Amino acid sequence: MRVVLVGPPGAGKGTQAQFIASHLAIPTISTGEIFRFNVSTGTELGRVAKAYMDRGDLVPDEVTIAMVAGRLQEDDAQAGFLLDGFPRNVPQAETLKKMLADWGTKLDLVLELVVDDDEVVRRLSGRRTCRRCGRVWHVLFDPPSRSEHCDDCGGELFQRDDDREETIRHRLEVYQQQTQPLITFYADEGILLGVDATGPVEEITDRALSALRRFIR
Ligand code: ADP
Ligand code: AMP
Repeated sequence: MRVVLVGPPGAGKGTQAQFIASHLAIPTISTGEIFRFNVSTGTELGRVAKAYMDRGDLVPDEVTIAMVAGRLQEDDAQAGFLLDGFPRNVPQAETLKKMLADWGTKLDLVLELVVDDDEVVRRLSGRRTCRRCGRVWHVLFDPPSRSEHCDDCGGELFQRDDDREETIRHRLEVYQQQTQPLITFYADEGILLGVDATGPVEEITDRALSALRRFIR
């Protein structure tokens, strides 16, 4: 299956992606994670992306699209993928559609995680990420047993630079202006499914998977 997860920053895309992708036995491709990996390993791509990410702006389309095109051509993505954080505007969505059509395929489904802005701010302001394995925690909603360390791998937890309050507000504006139009784009294509993304993580996964099963039946 070829699936896109869309929703505001902090909607829980990364959290849900791991469970949904493992159920469907497909890889998750998170553009934010690929950018952060390039920033932390000091590549040229990371250097270019960092300035945009720190401001909460989108990295330019030509950079992002070239990176995704390369990743989608890797072996593990041939039988399907779950995209988290891409596309993030209509030009990216149009390019993805064309790219997949050139390869004789198309998206099956776009899952929209629906949460309001106040919940997004609560989630992002308490988010902590493991430096070693990338696992995401929350200081209140999903706290690790030792506050500065990951329960899964013992790695050090950090707060993302773009999870500061003023950057969060800007990222929400960017979402509304640039990413929200994708909802209409994919609704018009007949492949959009909205999922209530409030409540316990497992319940949201169940909702997403049952919506998916109904859709592909
Ligand atoms: P996104 O990938 O959409 O930016 P994340 O998956 O990183 O969002 O989640 C943002 C924050 O919200 C993380 O700290 C995560 O632990 C927390 N979170 C995710 N899902 C839920 C939920 N259902 N209820 C409460 N907190 C959640
Ligand atoms: P995320 O981890 O999805 O919250 O993304 C973190 C940051 O990476 C965003 O605020 C952008 O600066 C950048 N980014 C991630 N995905 C994209 C994309 N599809 N297009 C442009 N920039 C992106």
